[in-house]
Amino acid sequence: MLDNKTGFFGEFGGRYVPDKLIKILDEVKAEFYKCKNDSKFIDELDYYYKNFIGRPSPLYFAEKLTKKIGGAKIYLKREDLNHTGAHKINNTMGQVLLAKRLGKKRIIAETGAGQHGVATATVCSLFDMECIIYMGEEDTQRQSLNVFRMELLGAKVVPVKHGMRTLKEAVDEALKDLMENYEHTYYMLGSAVGPDPYPAMVNYFQSIIGTEAKKQIIETEGILPNYLIAAVGGGSNAIGLFSPFYNNKEVKFIGVEPAGKGIETGMHAATLSFGKPGVLHGFRSYVLQDEQGESLPVYSISAGLDYPGVGPEHSFYKDIKRAEYVSITDEEALNAFEELSRTEGIIPALESSHAVAYAIKLAKQCSEDKIIIVNLSGRGDKDVDQVCKILKSK
Ligand SMILES: *Cc1c(COP(=O)(O)O)cnc(C)c1O
Repeated sequence: MLDNKTGFFGEFGGRYVPDKLIKILDEVKAEFYKCKNDSKFIDELDYYYKNFIGRPSPLYFAEKLTKKIGGAKIYLKREDLNHTGAHKINNTMGQVLLAKRLGKKRIIAETGAGQHGVATATVCSLFDMECIIYMGEEDTQRQSLNVFRMELLGAKVVPVKHGMRTLKEAVDEALKDLMENYEHTYYMLGSAVGPDPYPAMVNYFQSIIGTEAKKQIIETEGILPNYLIAAVGGGSNAIGLFSPFYNNKEVKFIGVEPAGKGIETGMHAATLSFGKPGVLHGFRSYVLQDEQGESLPVYSISAGLDYPGVGPEHSFYKDIKRAEYVSITDEEALNAFEELSRTEGIIPALESSHAVAYAIKLAKQCSEDKIIIVNLSGRGDKDVDQVCKILKSK
């Protein structure tokens, strides 16, 4: 497990950053471990989880889907019902309270699809923090509605105009800003990635998902589930669901990565399934990279899943075989998107549709006494326009 001192999970994680960043990361780390043991901090976090985000999110038995598929019982952890429509706010809420404790008044963040940017801008509005969001210029054009949302919430969106003009360059730019302005600036990372302490910290703020799910399934079924299934981009919603079950060895973890247009086309982002260990953005993990160790361009129908790296804790889970990582294509995710909408009246995010698609496949092969919990990480409202265009062009 995590070595608190070094920030390594086995051989993954750690800090591969310039000296100047070490001091900044140490400050954040010290405060984080203080907060974790401070009942005032925990009470404040609980207050906002409950009253602002709307927690606990329900654990919903998808009875119609279960009957239709015929096999294991499928439960949905409804992170889609959170304020702002996904799990990302669990993390930004925790980090903004931490930033407040550190006396920081200026928050910076990177965003790809804009979901983390919106969750960051939301908490900054709530706590009167200046908010700067770095976003690749290409992404600002693809996700113009989210840019508008962030601006509406009072954030400044800075388009990054070099390189591929996507998420990777936005992270580089945010790190540069942090090194120049660290005295009054806090960097709010959006997934369970980055140098220590971010992966451990994001896990902590997202583990409310698994903690609630465990209590809820015991209340309704009286037993633990057989499988937990979650989509994996950087890995935050998955680690949030999985980690509270870590010591329950009988509960199997399945992380679902995007196989995009098909693995053989090279257009995918299945990092754990097809990457190799390497260093990206300051930490060691599986990375989709070429022979020279340069990270490869990635693709998925869901913008929230196309990152060439993955959280180090997942790399560790893979190597010790605590979790299994599989992949689902765009086409399969789209089918699940439609299936859940029609059968249960729930339009899932395209990211979450990957997890739903795998759950449907798996449920069919299981007997009726088995239980699957799927993390419904977000709602699909943000995706309906894109899906409409795809289905109409078919
Ligand atoms: C961002 C996002 C993801 C992927 O991020 P993780 O850090 O892997 O959880 C998954 N689902 C939704 C709805 C998202 O917005």
